[in-house]
Amino acid sequence: MNQSLNFSLMASVSKLADELELQQFPQSALYVIATPIGNISDISLRALKVLSMVEEIACEDTRNTSQLLTRYGISKKCFAAHQHNERSVAEKIVQQLRDGSRIALVSDAGTPGISDPGAHIVDAVLEAGLQVIPLPGASAAIAALSCSGFISDDFYFVGFLPNKNKQRETELGKLISIQATLVFYEAPHRIMETIGSLVSVFGPDRKILIAREISKLFEQIHRGSLGSALTWLQEDENRQRGEFVLLIEGASRTNADEDSEAERILSILLEECSVSQAAALTARITGKKKNALYELALAIQKKSRD
Ligand code: SAM
Repeated sequence: MNQSLNFSLMASVSKLADELELQQFPQSALYVIATPIGNISDISLRALKVLSMVEEIACEDTRNTSQLLTRYGISKKCFAAHQHNERSVAEKIVQQLRDGSRIALVSDAGTPGISDPGAHIVDAVLEAGLQVIPLPGASAAIAALSCSGFISDDFYFVGFLPNKNKQRETELGKLISIQATLVFYEAPHRIMETIGSLVSVFGPDRKILIAREISKLFEQIHRGSLGSALTWLQEDENRQRGEFVLLIEGASRTNADEDSEAERILSILLEECSVSQAAALTARITGKKKNALYELALAIQKKSRD
């Protein structure tokens, strides 16, 4: 960055930091703070201010958060609040808040409670009649949606799919006729299998956006058809590394109408036939893929049992 621009940026940041002193930061409140998902600079001034003023910070992993705090010169007592101790820690936090403390809640990356721990703590604090204050910032899902160019006002956040192939495809079967953009999180060791399941359930024609390593050095945003996604990942092994958000274009209105017709036929046939017979007959009637219909039939059957 050119030197004079750098100075003027620093002067503006410093002025904004001074203005923060005039804002209200209530006591006895839980501050839920989003932290960077890759680029360390993606954190708000208000988040830094609150992290430096709270009594303690509840962290998914204290080592991770300590690294972030060190980079910003913040020294603060941290304690662990992860998926295995969240409920017991919630009681401790409620007590601290009742005693007048300000407590921050952070996860390893992004927004707490979004495919991350945090919801139990927030629930306990709200149930105790205490204040929860969100400090918005990075979230991988929103970052991916913002650069997808998918023209849809709606999105449906799924997060992580089940690990096992069968369960994963059953879950996907329930999403076939949703018209909103579907949002998935995925880890590198499952990316190929998950894309395989997506193709087998949704077919090759829907659009996919693969947002990989958002805000990091090797960030990649790839948009194409589901049918060509596996080839794109195989072309360069590095593309299978890192963290992923997958967006799948929602069902088109025609597809959604056809899918609801297929669902209606399946529901009738399931009263008389096995899942596989119902899927095979519906495939013959509608011309749709048997595999996807089989998953849909399982989902219908499960829904009627629940
Ligand atoms: N709370 C986080 C949020 O607000 O996005 C999500 C935490 S979840 C445990 C981690 C998953 O988020 C990763 O497996 C990946 O799917 C997605 N993710 C996190 N950081 C990412 C990044 N920089 N690029 C792409 N995906 C990311």
